[in-house]
Amino acid sequence: MTLLGDAAHLAAPNGEGANLAMLDGAELGRAIAAHPDDIETALAEYERAMFPRSAEAAADGAELHEILFGDGTPRTLLDMFQGNGQPR
Ligand SMILES: Cc1cc2nc3c(=O)[nH]c(=O)nc-3n(C[C@H](O)[C@H](O)[C@H](O)COP(=O)(O)OP(=O)(O)OC[C@H]3O[C@@H](n4cnc5c(N)ncnc54)[C@H](O)[C@@H]3O)c2cc1C
Repeated sequence: MTLLGDAAHLAAPNGEGANLAMLDGAELGRAIAAHPDDIETALAEYERAMFPRSAEAAADGAELHEILFGDGTPRTLLDMFQGNGQPR
């Protein structure tokens, strides 16, 4: 069993959730195609890449949430629009 999309890595909205869910599906399919007779290896390979990828996106989401709703807003939001402190 494995997870993908929001079920695997629900995070604060940053405009990446649907993209990550589709990428997860594609990467899972690719891993299974590469190891058709060894599903455990396929899932492990998929998860090894999926968890760091989604952790990075979650960190970006937390950063954006702070810019939008943190103590420094609206200054932080204006800084982002001006190219300073832009989320990765
Ligand atoms: C307000 C809002 C705005 C967003 N804007 C963006 C954006 O601009 N860009 C972006 O990339 N992402 C955005 N997202 C995030 C994005 O919608 C999700 O990350 C994405 O839909 C996750 O896809 P998923 O397939 O993992 O889950 P979901 O899209 O939630 O699909 C899960 C499906 O499973 C079904 N389901 C649940 N339980 C069961 C069950 N027991 N049996 C059968 N079916 C079940 C649900 O009905 C649903 O259809 C936004 C999210 C929200 C809430």
